[in-house]
Amino acid sequence: MLKFINYINKDFEQQFEPDIKKYYQEVRKLLPTLPKDIKIYFMSDGIIHGMYTGGYAYSPEIISIALDPKATNLDMLRSQIKATVFHEAFHIAHNYTGQTGPFYLIENALQEGSATVFEIMYANSIAKDLYGDYRHHSKSQLNEWLNFIKDNGVISYDEYRLFAFYDKSDDIRWKLYKTGAWLVDQYLSKTGKDIKDFTNDDVVTIIDSLN
Ligand SMILES: [Zn+2]
Repeated sequence: MLKFINYINKDFEQQFEPDIKKYYQEVRKLLPTLPKDIKIYFMSDGIIHGMYTGGYAYSPEIISIALDPKATNLDMLRSQIKATVFHEAFHIAHNYTGQTGPFYLIENALQEGSATVFEIMYANSIAKDLYGDYRHHSKSQLNEWLNFIKDNGVISYDEYRLFAFYDKSDDIRWKLYKTGAWLVDQYLSKTGKDIKDFTNDDVVTIIDSLN
């Protein structure tokens, strides 16, 4: 059962409740460890650049979702809600939540990268042109970010925001997500694994391989 526990723009958000329920049921079939009962908390910020939605796995029982009330293309919004639900549910399946952290930067990168690869693969997410789009960056650039990740265990939230979301000093977005997706994709092609079967043991295996 999904329970909706907070609204920002109630009338707008309520119309998507049946969609969110449907998407959560779908993702639970792919990730059977997900709990049946989960709470959805609509939040006011966190809309992703280039999208109408944003999400946050707040705790093992709560997914926060931001919806842009100015969204006009509701079909596009629905497909982005699906991608967001899939991404955040993937985090919950890996016990990667606001309440279960903090995590080392390399774990952040691999958890975000794998959730991103998952939403692209199973929810046809436009993340592939946004935070999952590492292909527009050179290998040396990606390796530079990887070295930053390896050299820094836990960084302040202000630094994290620059590295994960948007660095205005070089106008590059999502370095952490892109590096993570790059590492996860390499691992999947090397092992032949499907992203839906990617576990925290795989995270450990990748980390070990980087040392
Ligand atoms: Zn995430």
